[in-house]
Amino acid sequence: KPSVLQYLKLFLLFAFGGVIIAHVPDQDVLESLRKLPLDGHFSFRDMSTAARDFGNLSSFMPAAVLHPGSVDDIAITVRHVFLKGEHSMLTVAARGHGHSLRGQCQAAGGIVIKMESLPTARMQVHSGASPYVDASGGELWINVLHETFKYGLAPKSWTDYLHLTIGGTLSNAGVSGQTFRHGPQISNVIELEIVTGRGDIITCSPDQNSDLFHAALGGLGQFGIITRARIALERAPKMVRWIRVLYSDFISFTEDQEMLISAERTFDYIEGFVTINRTGILNNWRSSFNPQDPVWASQFESDGRVLFCLEMTKNYNPEEVDNMEQEVNNLLYQLRYIPQSLFHTDVTYIEFLDRVHSSEVKLRAKGMWEVPHPWLNLMIPKSSIHTFAREVFGKILKDSNNGPILLYPVNKFRWDNRTSVVIPDEEVFYLVGFLSSAPSSSGPHSIEHTLNLNNQIIEFSDKAGIGVKQYLPNYNTEQEWKAHFEARWETFLRRKNAYDPLAILAPGQGIFQKAS
Ligand code: FAD
Repeated sequence: KPSVLQYLKLFLLFAFGGVIIAHVPDQDVLESLRKLPLDGHFSFRDMSTAARDFGNLSSFMPAAVLHPGSVDDIAITVRHVFLKGEHSMLTVAARGHGHSLRGQCQAAGGIVIKMESLPTARMQVHSGASPYVDASGGELWINVLHETFKYGLAPKSWTDYLHLTIGGTLSNAGVSGQTFRHGPQISNVIELEIVTGRGDIITCSPDQNSDLFHAALGGLGQFGIITRARIALERAPKMVRWIRVLYSDFISFTEDQEMLISAERTFDYIEGFVTINRTGILNNWRSSFNPQDPVWASQFESDGRVLFCLEMTKNYNPEEVDNMEQEVNNLLYQLRYIPQSLFHTDVTYIEFLDRVHSSEVKLRAKGMWEVPHPWLNLMIPKSSIHTFAREVFGKILKDSNNGPILLYPVNKFRWDNRTSVVIPDEEVFYLVGFLSSAPSSSGPHSIEHTLNLNNQIIEFSDKAGIGVKQYLPNYNTEQEWKAHFEARWETFLRRKNAYDPLAILAPGQGIFQKAS
């Protein structure tokens, strides 16, 4: 069940027009911010955007929003807060694109830094034997794609949705259907520039200031603000064959997924999703998949059934189409999907990578994008995925009408255990995302109902010893955070004391409290 604190937050959220005013900022403090010598500027009015996020479940009004004109602006501001020490209640949250779910990019009564204001002229593509791009931490991945594509290059590892910032996804991990092969986005970073919680600007990499480098990757914004990232690139294909096949048997579905992620010659992207008692099985808000045979796809009998959809792509250039088809056929031949359930379409690489955005546009037009999103993202060891599935799909969840349910395996050896991200301790683990929308105030599409289902899933997992870890974690108490980090808590704490000793940064994660 949601905790009393969660209910109280929700009550306050709705009772006061969606905004909780947590602290009334001290006028002297605001005055001191006004006097800082900046290239950009602070705004002290109209800060409602900074008090919102995609989750639409938490809202905390800041005291000020910084629109940085340079990295120095960020360093000056953080140093100012650091030097005020425990005499000020100010905290600082970097806000990427605000696509957090539980107020993680907000700062109650503090300073929100609008990272997208950092000048984008800094994006520089370096081609050559080991190509890379240098980009601002506030840059959207979609812009990185468009810029690098001009050089025939692109990053290797993605998220499903690209209207997220580099700093925002690197603070978590950044996962998608390429993760099995390239690791998460945090495994594809060569160098970072970071403003620490003391206001120092530090360049770091696996060879230089490596502790800070690894701390910041998956570090939930706790150790510094990422102002620049150097991201590894590869040759970009022009086209993608995008395939979906269906299974009614969970064991065949997961065995096939696991076989594909371990094979040397395999697909370029591998994901999967679960549909429970739902018509329109091939499409959900996450993507506009238009199979070549849409009539057959729409007629596929799915009502009352639990079905599992394996989704794959093969990259190709137009002159390689025959080879691509041969390889795809060889791979499909090894799979055990329902024979008449093979659907495919060909799209450009950019269309494929930006697939969720086209759905966003449609949902926005219907007013269905800015609704509450009580998402639950889990990482589940391979050894317990069947126990989990048996209880959750069909028992706890009777349908999947609240939003897509993603489920796909990744290889642990692609994750660097020196980073801050916490993953299950098994060679293969599953990413499972319950991406619910809650547009109604009551009934099956309400926040309360969805949070209740989420809690049932978590409670069952705890009781059954599933060994789950939350992705994009959200906890309310130090005890819960310690349980999340387990043996890695000590390292997390040591790094916090080293790089942000006053706990100024990313207060919305709710891990540390600034002393005042
Ligand atoms: P914000 O929400 O603005 O910030 C997130 C956290 O990072 C905050 O704590 C913030 O303070 C901190 N932060 C932001 N910028 C910086 C910075 N420059 N330096 C240090 N800390 C910083 N995730 C995946 O891995 N894979 C997916 O496929 C995926 N799909 C998504 C689809 C949608 C529609 C949405 C809404 C989210 C999805 N996510 C996915 C989750 C997403 O990666 C995270 O919510 C991410 O944090 C959002 O990035 P953002 O730029 O909006 O960050």
